[in-house]
This record gives sequence, structure tokens and C-alpha cells, in this order.
Amino acid sequence: MTHAERRAALEAVAAEVRVCTLCRLHQTRTKAVPGEGHPDTEVAFVGEGPGFNEDRLGRPFVGRAGDLLVKLLASIGWRREEVFITNVVKCRPPENRDPLPDEIAACQPYLRRQLEALDPALVVTLGRHSMGRFMAGARISEAHGTVRPVDPATGAADATAFALYHPAAALRTPAIERASYADIAGVPAALEASRARRATHAAEREAANRTLQATLEPVAATATAVPANASADQPGLF
Ligand code: URA
Ligand code: SF4
Repeated sequence: MTHAERRAALEAVAAEVRVCTLCRLHQTRTKAVPGEGHPDTEVAFVGEGPGFNEDRLGRPFVGRAGDLLVKLLASIGWRREEVFITNVVKCRPPENRDPLPDEIAACQPYLRRQLEALDPALVVTLGRHSMGRFMAGARISEAHGTVRPVDPATGAADATAFALYHPAAALRTPAIERASYADIAGVPAALEASRARRATHAAEREAANRTLQATLEPVAATATAVPANASADQPGLF
């Protein structure tokens, strides 16, 4: 996909999200929060769902949790404009309750399409609910700071998942805040490793393509050697 195609695909998803009524969360939202960021980024951060401030502004991670996310990014020399930031559900659950399974399921195609467009090398999950989408069965207390290959069914064709605690949990518990800084310090190396993995996969695909081409060329040569209309000498057949 070109830069322009990616932009257009992401904007199309955002436009649909803003008027979506596919689950009950649309009834209580102020603004849907599609997500935002650099269309050409290699890294997607995926949170749980919009909170109070996000719901009012229609932008992800703009409250206190967002401030901490920006500080965590700054600790590795990154800025939020350079990555993509979105959520598992795009509308705020009332009273900030957990999103329900049917709400996550209804919203899932939007995240999938965003990941298809971005084709990120790294998906950084923020909290349990997001981790559940990319590291099925993992426990956050053990999985934080670790990586796992992403199932392409999520939309991310060749990505690595990296689990972080949710910034809101870090705001409540100093030990989790310290762990979050330690964990995010591993993100640049995880990105490097994922880039290398993707390059290997691309080289493997290219080699397989060359092998296929080499197999097909003699077949193509034989096919063109067949007379254009062999049945013309056999009028009896028509
Ligand atoms: N918490 C989330 O999970 N997402 C946001 O966008 C803000 C807070
Ligand atoms: Fe639609 Fe997702 Fe909002 Fe539900 S949470 S109304 S599926 S955009």
C-alpha cells in the first residue's frame, strides 16, 4: 500500500467509526474515538477503550493515562505523533466499566482494518483487554515486557506483540509505574527484532516466488508451442 492508500484506508475506518451504531456503546458515547497517528508508522499502540476525556474530545489517550503514555514514549525518545494509537473498543464504556465480549466482537473489524492498513511490525498492547486480543491466554503479571508473534487473523500480517501494563494501572500503583518504564525500555529492541523477522519472511517469499517462476517458465514455453487452433484440421469435430 502506498502512503496515500494507507491514509485513505485509515480515514475510511475513522469515518465509519464516528457514526457507528453496531453495539450499545454508541448510545452513551459523546464522541467515538477511532484512533490517530502516523499512517506510515511501524508501531501500533492498542489500549482498552476511551475514558471520560477521550469521549469528550474524540481522541485516544488524552487524559492522565495519556500523559503517562507520552512520558513513557519520551523515555525511549519517541513522540506520540510518530506511532499509531487506538483502542480495542472505539466508544467509551459507561462509568469506565470493562468492555463486554459482544462489544469487543462488534468493534473488532475496525481494529482489524486499521492493522491491515498499517501493517505494523510491532503491536504494543496496553492492559489486559488489549493483550487478550494479541496474546491469547497470557496473564499480564507474567506477560508484561514480553513479546509473542501476532496471529495474522488480527489484521497485522507479520507483527510482534509487546505487552505493557495499562497506563491507568501504573497511575494507581507505583510498582506498576516502575515496571512500565522498565518494560517500555525493551520496545526499541523488540522493534529491531521484528524488522529482522519481517525481512527474513520477505526474502523467503521472494525465493519461493523465484522457484515458482522457474517451474512455470517451461510450462509457459510449451503452452505457446501449441498451434493456435489445432482443431481446424479436424472439421469432423464441429
Ligand atoms: N484508556 C484507554 O484504554 N484508552 C484510552 O484511549 C484512554 C484511556
Ligand atoms: Fe461501533 Fe465500536 Fe462504538 Fe460499538 S464501540 S458503537 S462497535 S465503534
